[in-house]
Amino acid sequence: MANLGNPTNTIEILKKYNFNFQKKFGQNFLIDSNVLEHIIDAAEITKDDLVLEIGPGIGTMTQYLAEHAREVVAVEIDETLIPILQDTLSSYDNVTVINDDILKVDLKKLADERNGGRPIKVVANLPYYITTPIIMGLFENEVPLKSITIMIQKEVADRMQAGPGTKDYGALSLAVQFYAKPEVVLQVSPGCFIPKPGVGSSVIRLTRYEEMPIRVQDEKKLFSLIRASFNQRRKTLVNGLGNAGALKTASGKSVPVTKEDVQNALAKMELSPTIRGEALTLEQFARLSELL
Ligand code: SAM
Repeated sequence: MANLGNPTNTIEILKKYNFNFQKKFGQNFLIDSNVLEHIIDAAEITKDDLVLEIGPGIGTMTQYLAEHAREVVAVEIDETLIPILQDTLSSYDNVTVINDDILKVDLKKLADERNGGRPIKVVANLPYYITTPIIMGLFENEVPLKSITIMIQKEVADRMQAGPGTKDYGALSLAVQFYAKPEVVLQVSPGCFIPKPGVGSSVIRLTRYEEMPIRVQDEKKLFSLIRASFNQRRKTLVNGLGNAGALKTASGKSVPVTKEDVQNALAKMELSPTIRGEALTLEQFARLSELL
């Protein structure tokens, strides 16, 4: 089967199968071999690796992954792509295609069964409409992970990588950085896809921490605090958290929080009583969550 990482071969396959792009599945297929090679390099795939690909499309990146990895498992929701994948991947015996919604697949079980519970690598040109649930699902469901190397919307990549005091910094930055080190490795223009997406794209690599740098007694409470702190971004923490009134905890119970509680906690941390959430580091949010 011809290499799909160029427009001519991709268009030939799409015509052969009379394929209709489905907007609702975020289908923008890669047609640039330089970008594909860059993604494979950034993911540092070796013959030891089990790679999970989310949304293989017609199998373009899957071909590259199959060449470099020990085994590839590709999960595709669109059943009309399955016969195409059988065709484009027919010369590889190390690829398994699963026709399912990635959000419904038990990925922890998959890593246990196929990789003996050892960390897997995730590589994908993601469907942009479900970027956050996919990534947070991988982290929160404790899927053993080495890294996630993904093409996503540029603005979302910027938010994942942002630090305190910047306009992009928020709940997503903190949620991602709690689990992994983010690095944007490539900017990709709409012309590298068919059809062209209406937004710019970035490839970002999230390297999962082996040892978590931040530890808290109750992660759910920390994330409840972070969300509440950015819900009213322009308000001070004292007002924003005081208005929220409570934080959710892992046990399912809510802890009441008053303005005074927040003032006292900030004083203990030697922070200004008028500070906003966007100025706090992850370490400071962790401390604040333990104090409240
Ligand atoms: N990997 C291909 C490429 O780079 O050319 C296609 C990438 S395209 C941006 C996203 C792919 O994800 C599509 O094939 C789409 O059908 C698939 N997809 C969308 N939602 C999905 C879901 N919930 N579960 C699994 N696959 C999904």
